[in-house]
Amino acid sequence: MVLTGKNRTLEILDAATKGNYGVMAAIAYNIEQLTALVRAAEVKRSPLIIQLFPSTLKQLPTLAHAAAAAVKSASVPLSLHIDHAQNVDHIREIIATLPVDSVMVDMSHYDEAENLEKTKILAKECHEKGIAVEAESGRIEGGEDGIANTEGLEALFTSPEDVDKFIAAGIDILAPSIGNVHGDYGPAGPAPGQIHFDKLTAINKQIDGRVRIALHGTNDFPPEIMKQAIDNGAVKLNVNKLLLEVWNEFVQKNASKMMLVQLIDEGMKVIQEETERWMDICGSSGKA
Ligand SMILES: [Zn+2]
Repeated sequence: MVLTGKNRTLEILDAATKGNYGVMAAIAYNIEQLTALVRAAEVKRSPLIIQLFPSTLKQLPTLAHAAAAAVKSASVPLSLHIDHAQNVDHIREIIATLPVDSVMVDMSHYDEAENLEKTKILAKECHEKGIAVEAESGRIEGGEDGIANTEGLEALFTSPEDVDKFIAAGIDILAPSIGNVHGDYGPAGPAPGQIHFDKLTAINKQIDGRVRIALHGTNDFPPEIMKQAIDNGAVKLNVNKLLLEVWNEFVQKNASKMMLVQLIDEGMKVIQEETERWMDICGSSGKA
């Protein structure tokens, strides 16, 4: 079942596809980070997808409602996406109870046949509620703060067969595995050739506008790698530590020196500045 009707996440991504720029899909773990990301989008007149992990929904149950309120009240296009939802029952609870625009249905810890079958069923259930669906084809290696690690499961590059099978399962956004990893590449970013841009180009050509491409695993990306990903068809750039590391460093350095309210204020400024810088790099600034 194809998603019909308006969907904020897909509208943001389709505008970016037409305009040849990338849109960040940024993880927030708390209200300070959420607020700083939204402020950056407003200042830069940039679209933005706000991402929460399922674990965060359990840890801070009101954060999704705060994010949805931000989406509704912002003067720029925002949407609320749930990243790496790996539990079928939790996905059903999320789409039944939370005002989300899109969900990543991540069944990549199952074998391919079961992954596809579960993805297809859940995509239909999401679409019935007007919620868009992202899925990971192949398997992206590693883990990050908030999701199960795929350690022990080998990374699998996305094949042309995978692409068609996942599109047939009814998804709206495809997250390919092209050498990208969850976790850190090292301070210099991915090694030369580690991200297979030729594969990304081929996947984009094969997709031919049927779904949109999300790129996961962007920690330590230098600007030129991010731009190369966008030039080769990635339109939803999942970012986590890329924007939030400045907050981690700031808080660690200043927690014992500042009053809490000052720490919050200054910490939010640090994230906002970093987010604005990356909106310029991705080309989404001024597009709202
Ligand atoms: Zn991911």
